[in-house]
Amino acid sequence: MRITDYPVIDADILIIGGGSAGIMAAIRAKEMNPDQKVVIFEKGEIKYSGCIARGMDALNIVALPGVSTPELYVASNRIACEGIMDEPVNYRMAQRSWAMMKKLESWGVCFPVDENGEYEVLQVHPKGKFCVTMKEPELKTLLAKRAIDLGVSAINRTMAVKLLKNGEQLAGAIGMNVRTGENILCRAKSVILCAGGTARFGLPNNGNLYGVYDFPGNTGDGYCLAYKAGAELSGFEYTLIYYIVKDINAPLLYITLTRGANLLTALDEHREKDHPSIKSMLLDHFKEKGPLRIRMSHLPENKIKEIEDILFTTERPVCERFYKGRGIDFRSGEIELWPTETFLCGGHGLTGIRVNENAETCVPGLYAAGDASLVARGHLSGAFVFGEIAAENASEYAAANEAVELDTDQVDDFMKAKQSRLSQSGNPIPVEEFEYKVRRIINDYIRPPKNEYKLNRALWWMDRFRRELATMVRVNDMHDLFKVYEVENIIQCATLSAVASNERKESRWGLWHYRSDYPDRDDQNWLKHIVLTIGDVPENVETAHKKIEKLEGEHQ
Ligand SMILES: Cc1cc2nc3c(=O)[nH]c(=O)nc-3n(C[C@H](O)[C@H](O)[C@H](O)COP(=O)(O)OP(=O)(O)OC[C@H]3O[C@@H](n4cnc5c(N)ncnc54)[C@H](O)[C@@H]3O)c2cc1C
Repeated sequence: MRITDYPVIDADILIIGGGSAGIMAAIRAKEMNPDQKVVIFEKGEIKYSGCIARGMDALNIVALPGVSTPELYVASNRIACEGIMDEPVNYRMAQRSWAMMKKLESWGVCFPVDENGEYEVLQVHPKGKFCVTMKEPELKTLLAKRAIDLGVSAINRTMAVKLLKNGEQLAGAIGMNVRTGENILCRAKSVILCAGGTARFGLPNNGNLYGVYDFPGNTGDGYCLAYKAGAELSGFEYTLIYYIVKDINAPLLYITLTRGANLLTALDEHREKDHPSIKSMLLDHFKEKGPLRIRMSHLPENKIKEIEDILFTTERPVCERFYKGRGIDFRSGEIELWPTETFLCGGHGLTGIRVNENAETCVPGLYAAGDASLVARGHLSGAFVFGEIAAENASEYAAANEAVELDTDQVDDFMKAKQSRLSQSGNPIPVEEFEYKVRRIINDYIRPPKNEYKLNRALWWMDRFRRELATMVRVNDMHDLFKVYEVENIIQCATLSAVASNERKESRWGLWHYRSDYPDRDDQNWLKHIVLTIGDVPENVETAHKKIEKLEGEHQ
């Protein structure tokens, strides 16, 4: 039986994920060629979705002329990544960062200047100053409006569930409306993956499935789509944990410390003077000096107001309600910090789809940008710059190639599997409870400290979860169905992470890949990437080791 009841749209470029990277890619694609058709599949609503709405107070990497250089940035980030960084992509990002910032400014984004017209540039990297403060509560709505005005077609509430290929050629993707379950097919000449990292990975201390640091709609879909289409992944052993405000998991550290706040351990020792790294705070916390706290009672009223102004507008308006609810006034109270859940991310970390300086993956016509890709610790600057780079190269690719016919067998297979999921209404376990358990097991076995025994247990559990997703989990409606697709991706990411963590037989990045059975860093054997590709089935992960790409010649 053929299932043909779905609309098919055509695009020159399909962008999956309309967050920071995706929206910038869409804008750039239209700038490159206003006549080309640019479609975004966005799981949420492009006006508010993605990391920007989680609070963005700076463009973390800008090589400001006269202040710093792209070369210095590469040297600095090499230290921060403990050597696991492909230098050419990071150089390219830093090289275009100043032009990116000026472009944003010309669109009305506010980068405050002092009385001398100087930007506020903070030092948050091991060497050099690159972090330019930004005060723009309307950043995402402003970018979304620009994309729509340029004629980008944004299909909101639509989760990309499968990349389509015809033979070896990329043909487009299947999207599914997360409310109605309706499918839409996009036949595209090129695809840019901008679906963020895996925010819903470990379970946060607050016990809420969605109360995570990163954007909770990001469930590693971009990683899984790329992997299943044959792209290379790297850095899945880099299981991040941040150290920020307890329970709400919202940022505030540098906003307060750079304005004179104190950072104290539970034993009242001061830490603010050492410009604390996440790594050093986590070490304090776990060496029985936690929790750390922020104290501002000594600050003058104008400084407190300045901090509140950023935290309650540019960051997240919900912060104001949170502190009120906890009875915390910055003039008298303290803010308790705590480790976040563990998560996977290219923008903060080293996890992602492998791309070159043109944002190309190893699958022709498939590009990636932002937290879904590996431009190590690129943050918002990386998402914006590589969003642009991906769009430029995808536009060229689309202009040079004809659209590929869809392989209807592949579509039929997906539709049949969907029907089978929809027949799971008699199963006993609600998908939310199942997700809770999957993520609790990630905490037990993949969250560092790791060792071979724990990682093998993780793999055993993930195989079992894969089976139980079909035999135990209840699918009552389309909402349940889309949650099942998300959990399937979380399980796949956990498998990838356990395999990569097992393969890297050393410890690196402090707690983030700490192996109790291999506690030392071993540059002689492990200063390289662990690269993952799909085996005969998604659960069979192939591993390879690849060298770190270095800058050549004058930029070294
Ligand atoms: C709390 C927080 C504060 C930060 N602060 C700063 C800062 O001050 N300065 C800085 O430089 N960086 C900061 N960063 C990092 C920076 O925000 C990110 O690196 C960057 O925004 C990532 O952009 P992205 O497009 O890759 O991901 P996102 O902006 O998260 O976008 C991903 C999008 O993909 C969509 N999506 C996911 N799956 C699918 C799917 N299957 N189909 C369709 N759509 C999908 C999501 O809905 C989302 O809209 C911060 C990050 C966080 C979480």
